[in-house]
Amino acid sequence: MKCLVTGAAGFIGSHLCRRLLEEGEDVVGIDCFTDYYAREIKEGNLRPLLSHNRFQFIDQDINGIELSPLMASTDTVFHLAAQAGVRASWGVHFSIYTRNNIDASQRLLEASREIPLHKFIYASSSSVYGTCPELPMRESSPLHPYSPYGVSKLAAEHLCGLYFQNYGVPTVSLRFFTVYGPGQRPDMAFHKFLKAQLEGASISVYGDGTQTRDFTYIDDIISGILAACKRGKLGEVYNLGGGNRKKLNTIFPILEKISGKRPIIDRETTQKGDVPHTFASIEKAQLELGYSPNVPVEEGLNEEWRWIKALYA
Ligand code: NAD
Repeated sequence: MKCLVTGAAGFIGSHLCRRLLEEGEDVVGIDCFTDYYAREIKEGNLRPLLSHNRFQFIDQDINGIELSPLMASTDTVFHLAAQAGVRASWGVHFSIYTRNNIDASQRLLEASREIPLHKFIYASSSSVYGTCPELPMRESSPLHPYSPYGVSKLAAEHLCGLYFQNYGVPTVSLRFFTVYGPGQRPDMAFHKFLKAQLEGASISVYGDGTQTRDFTYIDDIISGILAACKRGKLGEVYNLGGGNRKKLNTIFPILEKISGKRPIIDRETTQKGDVPHTFASIEKAQLELGYSPNVPVEEGLNEEWRWIKALYA
């Protein structure tokens, strides 16, 4: 395959590029190093890829580059570039979300119209469910995004559906549920918790800690993306959860075991846009993609801990 990976310097994008290269594919990665978190972390994600002779990196904004020549030599698009993060999506920052999540997706889809693509994989999010009345969340469950971020991810998911129906762009949207592991973004809970453990600092917990999340280890997500690329039905949407739904409070004993230090918890008020629960039904992905996540949280957190120690050494 000749793959285009957007957001290639990010957490999930850089892991995906590595796996695609290991599987013998040609990969062009694009990323514009948005300032949402430190450029050094993204450069660290990219470093092992840059020496690979089947990898080419383009340091450009999707909104500013002429896409047609790039698309002409692509047969598979993995569109992961986005402005991530629920809490930062309010107020004046929303325009960053509309630009990087909606406009950029629309530009890529437009550029895909005339190209005989094999697949256009879009990284959607559990945030599209928002305060979903059903648990587990199924692909057919009602969608009530609860944050501006969720609205922007759902808008791009709808665009994927529209470009499939109207122009036959072979889109498959994947709703990721809280991805973690080495390389995780610094604004995400596990990264912040493990960094605090390393520094002996306190951990801010929003709400009473009874909220639940379906945690998905990075290697499982990458396997799900590759399975969707092979077997995903065009125009469809699939949940990729980790089968590790946990109350936040149950993570603290695991942190203590891994780091050898009792976490110091600071309770803070619930943040706007945070939903009480996420819980994926992965039945459809299991049946149609053969998706089968198998990394338990204890094991995955341990891998992330090793990475955090090296990152902040
Ligand atoms: P990330 O922030 O680490 O990676 C996204 C990358 O996209 C960044 O490196 C950024 O510089 C780049 N980017 C943003 N706008 C761009 C543009 N206009 N042009 C070029 N590059 C641009 O985020 P991540 O955690 O790796 O998430 C990857 C994708 O998965 C995103 O689409 C996100 O919405 C989705 N997702 C992630 C999670 C998760 O738990 N990490 C959960 C659900 C969905």
